[in-house]
Amino acid sequence: MARRKSKRKAPPKRKMTQPLEKVFTCPFCNHEKSCDVKMELDKNTAHIRCTVCSEDFQTVINYLTEPIDVYNEWIDACESVNS
Ligand SMILES: [Zn+2]
Repeated sequence: MARRKSKRKAPPKRKMTQPLEKVFTCPFCNHEKSCDVKMELDKNTAHIRCTVCSEDFQTVINYLTEPIDVYNEWIDACESVNS
């Protein structure tokens, strides 16, 4: 029997493009998913604001900046204030 085994189906490729996180845990009140990032590319700024405790942060962005970057900058800023 020279029959070839049926080819295994290749596993479906996983897309690397997961939906981007845009809501984050607040570093002040620790509320999960309470912080919204607003990207204003036309002004090169991003705002992040906690809907629970109203803490907010603003930073300069460019077209490569992602909401998580804004959030990370906020965390960094918080830590530098606290230290
Ligand atoms: Zn908060």
